[in-house]
Amino acid sequence: MSRRRVAQRAAPMRAPTEQVVSKADGAWNIRPIRGSGSAKEYRCPGCAQPIRPGTAHLVAWPVEKALLSAAAIDERRHWHTACWARKH
Ligand SMILES: [Zn+2]
Repeated sequence: MSRRRVAQRAAPMRAPTEQVVSKADGAWNIRPIRGSGSAKEYRCPGCAQPIRPGTAHLVAWPVEKALLSAAAIDERRHWHTACWARKH
């Protein structure tokens, strides 16, 4: 006689996956932003078009900070996912 109990396990809340990608201008950290996580409008440097609030996109910042910036994190740029993919 088996008594099976299905454990109700909540999926752990994980930080969104960050990864490092190499582009022609260096290594970038990227982090995907879900549409639900974006409430602001950003301008995509790839196409110069706005990224509407609620649009899934990604944020990228250089692994090595630029000479005059206090921190690489200040150089975050929001990209359309497709524009980032086209970037070399
Ligand atoms: Zn774009």
